[in-house]
Amino acid sequence: MVAQSNIVVDGAALWSDLMETAQFGATAKGGICRLALSGEDAKVRAWFKSTCEALGCVVSCDSMGNQFARRMGEEDGLAPIMIGSHLDTQPTGGKFDGILGVMGGIAVLRALRDAGLSTRHPIEIINWTNEEGARFTPPMLASGVFGGVFTQEFAQSRADRAGVRLGEALEEIGYVGAEVCGEHPAAAYFELHIEQGPVLEAEQRTIGVVQGVQGMRWYNVTVKGQDAHAGTTPMTMRSDALWGAARMIDAVHQVAMDHAPDGLGTVGIIDCLPGSSNVVPGEVQFTVDLRHPSDSVLEKMEEKFRQCMNYLATQCGVEMDITPTWVSAAVHFDPLCVECVRESAQALGYSLRDIVSGAGHDAVYVAQVAPTAMIFVPCWKGISHNEAESAEPEHVTAGANVLLHAILAADARLDA
Ligand SMILES: [Zn+2]
Repeated sequence: MVAQSNIVVDGAALWSDLMETAQFGATAKGGICRLALSGEDAKVRAWFKSTCEALGCVVSCDSMGNQFARRMGEEDGLAPIMIGSHLDTQPTGGKFDGILGVMGGIAVLRALRDAGLSTRHPIEIINWTNEEGARFTPPMLASGVFGGVFTQEFAQSRADRAGVRLGEALEEIGYVGAEVCGEHPAAAYFELHIEQGPVLEAEQRTIGVVQGVQGMRWYNVTVKGQDAHAGTTPMTMRSDALWGAARMIDAVHQVAMDHAPDGLGTVGIIDCLPGSSNVVPGEVQFTVDLRHPSDSVLEKMEEKFRQCMNYLATQCGVEMDITPTWVSAAVHFDPLCVECVRESAQALGYSLRDIVSGAGHDAVYVAQVAPTAMIFVPCWKGISHNEAESAEPEHVTAGANVLLHAILAADARLDA
């Protein structure tokens, strides 16, 4: 038995796996186009299967085409500790989003094999089907079925732009497994991912200990005034919908700033009618996106936002209406799993910070049914969903090392 603290992943082999599989769907600009269940996806799936089998795993898939590579545990009847992410990409995707989480799992199994180390729990690497939502919407479709968020009927009936249903595409590439998606046991789930944001890079930190995913609320705001001649209507006699909206948009920014640094407020779309330079605008619609890691704080932000909108409507002499369009509750990852990540990063001497994910990941839905945590590493300028997506080899290696030690810590602590 090797002392666990000495084990590290083979960073060069991990990087080589990332670069080798990047050839499946490689684009001229150095990215990847590997849409879910495409021919290129079938190729990387076959690579995943043969690579994991060479590491001694048994590889299977479930009824949503999710691939499971299983390494036996000493107490093989225990539910597996899972490592996962996705191998599908956006049409102009990069080499790291999702792929790092799967290749990081392979790096962990390789390190365990090389160290001659067994674990109590079986360990499984998962490649989730259609995370990106680029070919079949919505995103995180198969992990969503696994987590009980979507029914399989719903997921398999999603069609791409050519009218091909996900169920048909699964059959075509031979990935309809006998096991019903969601019936797979799970002791815990860990996902390594690039941050897809600029914070770690800006603070020069190597590891993000992900606490969860922030809550999000969307609204449409309609402001109604009165169309009027820009030259003949005195300022005091106007009902200017765009002036009202401008002050309201400023208030959205202020509500977020009052809840800094975690509160976020964005107005991304404005429609102004009638849209003529010499007409006082009579109607404006704009969208509002409010986010915060805590649902109770987000509720307070919404209250303040509504108060401000009502106050400013009166002040500006316009009518105002708010329609909520989407709500996504905050997700809090499992305290024990998060602790396994934090302690591993600390023990390995990496600089770290707590972070909340601003993007969706398979882990969000898996967290509904299994104790879950995520590890973030920096990516260049925070850019992703882009062929220019890039990460430093030492950060990639560091993330996989934290993943390895978090798995070992969870193996010791869970079901103990
Ligand atoms: Zn991803």
